[in-house]
Amino acid sequence: MSYEKAGKIAAEALQYGRRLIKPGIKLSEVVKKVEEKIIADKGAFAFPPQISMNNITAHYYPDPSDDTEFKEEDLVKLDLGVQINGHIADTALTVDLSENNEHLELVKASKDALKEALTLFTPETPLTKIGKAIEEVIVGYGFQPIRNLSGHEIKPYELHAGLTVPNFNNKDRTPLEENQVFAVEPFATTGDGYVKDGKPSGIYKLVNPKNSRSGRDVLNFIIDNFKTLPFHKSQILKKFGDFKGSFGLRILEREEIIHQYPQLVERSGGIVSQAEHTVIVKDKPIITTKI
Ligand code: MN
Ligand code: MN
Repeated sequence: MSYEKAGKIAAEALQYGRRLIKPGIKLSEVVKKVEEKIIADKGAFAFPPQISMNNITAHYYPDPSDDTEFKEEDLVKLDLGVQINGHIADTALTVDLSENNEHLELVKASKDALKEALTLFTPETPLTKIGKAIEEVIVGYGFQPIRNLSGHEIKPYELHAGLTVPNFNNKDRTPLEENQVFAVEPFATTGDGYVKDGKPSGIYKLVNPKNSRSGRDVLNFIIDNFKTLPFHKSQILKKFGDFKGSFGLRILEREEIIHQYPQLVERSGGIVSQAEHTVIVKDKPIITTKI
């Protein structure tokens, strides 16, 4: 089954990436190697692999020109997505590079919250019960969940489809149904638990595939290669060159045909950990991204 195959490739790429994250190594080098591994394993990207550090919570893609290196005090989140025929696996983990494992509890908080949440992905569970469990575990560690980020339902070629999985008790009584697929992703923070928009990420997604005269070539390439899945600017520049690629993206963004994601940062400057798996709802839930 494609969901499970994508899950296995994603899980192996995540563990491979984890071992590459070390002080003095470039973020862009890790992302490049992870991408190569996914391709070698015959997976396709569901979105560009991301490495967000410290108070940056999500949507940081280190492109080949990014010279940022890991430092000893960094708390590093690696988040990647693989798809096979549009069947998506989305998974993430956090690596603590501090010398004395300073952030051990913060890392455990999101990891334990995820573990607890995954047991609840059985038919009829109301979504809020999952949010409540996540919130209780994280608050139990003395941290806050990120309340304005959530897990999400997954459908073929749709990364954020339909329902959302709250990271707190949001009173949503919608019941889970058998065979629904979800990415579950608790975030724990030392801050007050909300993200705000940061810098542009260079990650885009097709939102409204209407005609565009001057952006047509770039648009057709996006439709053929990514459909509605997220992609990075560097994938466009590689195909069209810097000038035509940047111009095309600018036009399509202005015409509201594509949307650019901002980086997301914890608004009070708190540092953030994340853990994520993809799960299929069953009497005995299937975690596709577990090895
Ligand atoms: Mn993810
Ligand atoms: Mn996700």
